Amino acid sequence: MATGAFENVNRYFDTAAKLLGLTEAESRYLRTPARELKVECNIRMDDGTVGTFVGFRVQHDNARGPYKGGLRYHPTVDLDHTQALASLMTWKTAVVDIPYGGAKGGIAVDPNALSKLELERLTRKFTQGIHEMIGDTVDIPAPDVNTNGQVMAWIMDEYAKFHGFRPGVVTGKPVELFGSEGRSEATGRGVVIAIEEYLATKGKKVSGSTFVIQGFGNVGSHAARILDEKGGKVIAIGDHTKSLHDPNGLDISAALAHVAEHRTLEQFDGKTLPNDELLLVECDVLIPAALGDVIHEGNAKDLRTTLVVEAANGPTTPEADEILHGRDIDVIPDIYANAGGVTVSYFEWAQNIQQFPWSYERVRTELENIMRKAFKTIHEAQQQHSCHMRAAAFAVAIDRVRAASEMRGF
Ligand code: NAD
Repeated sequence: MATGAFENVNRYFDTAAKLLGLTEAESRYLRTPARELKVECNIRMDDGTVGTFVGFRVQHDNARGPYKGGLRYHPTVDLDHTQALASLMTWKTAVVDIPYGGAKGGIAVDPNALSKLELERLTRKFTQGIHEMIGDTVDIPAPDVNTNGQVMAWIMDEYAKFHGFRPGVVTGKPVELFGSEGRSEATGRGVVIAIEEYLATKGKKVSGSTFVIQGFGNVGSHAARILDEKGGKVIAIGDHTKSLHDPNGLDISAALAHVAEHRTLEQFDGKTLPNDELLLVECDVLIPAALGDVIHEGNAKDLRTTLVVEAANGPTTPEADEILHGRDIDVIPDIYANAGGVTVSYFEWAQNIQQFPWSYERVRTELENIMRKAFKTIHEAQQQHSCHMRAAAFAVAIDRVRAASEMRGF
């Protein structure tokens, strides 16, 4: 997302607020973040110098439950982006109806430039800076771009030094350390469930459809694998190092094995195309699963797809969104499309609190139930308000948060 990321989310909010007939006062309290913290993290680098990094945690709303949202390690992390992503979490947890509010955090850093030990020191320092505002009944971080189970494990351990054993303070932990079966694939699996639900309304299926996926990290790679398993034809993939295209379908198993060993697609063999052309490849379903603002005024008119599925957070600018609507390209919005991750995070938290692990099969069944029920709710709201899917999803979410806030009182 470019500058004004929070404003972009609020433009989507305003469209739905109009449909719901919210007053200006209601819109204001629903949009405004509850608490924002910026922390300086000084660490000793491996070469003996001192590295200074800045981290953020924004808690947007907790009317429906503890604040919940990921941590991102990326050079573009700043207060504006964190506010935007925190508010998206409020609407995401509400639209799939799980008992959380919304938050987000991160550190402005390129983690690839740090050693593993530096990354651990930075994560622990950041945890020391935010430990008083997180907790399993208060605010529960999780992985996002460039963070993973290992980072969550360090946070859990550092938090325990201040507050004792509370594994539910973070989700997305390794399965061996109070994580949940099915969590690492959950966002990608949820994306595929969303696609199946949408295609069913058009009398279509994953098998027989073509897919282009930008981003081959946690979300993009699992989505690619599951689509491939279901008979979908993944014809183009890309990460920040390389994009590949084969109209006959790429060998996804080979790409997954390559990335498991080498982390990126850089050395993976195949017909390449420039990174900025990946999104323009003709396909039935286009899945941005990397960073924000990749579909913008400059390229929206050139997309050759029938459906955009926002696996990433905020991949479409409001201007591009209007262009896509004008071209009859449907968009499954981020707050629903990528909600599978936070949904299985909720299952992980429930398992931590009960100290009772679930089977992989149970996680999958419960995830399917929640994602399919939410699709139906959004679909009904779309018909009620005669609007696009994003406005309908926001309307469902905002109405739930407004109702909870009013019942709790001010
Ligand atoms: P990740 O760090 O595992 O992977 C990110 C991928 O994006 C990598 O393959 C990277 O190379 C690629 N990428 C980065 N910059 C790029 C560029 N300029 N062009 C092309 N590719 C680029 O992150 P992730 O967890 O997979 O998250 C991806 C997106 O999904 C983010 O927007 C995140 O907020 C969203 N999301 C993640 C989760 C989750 O559970 N991990 C849940 C909901 C939403």
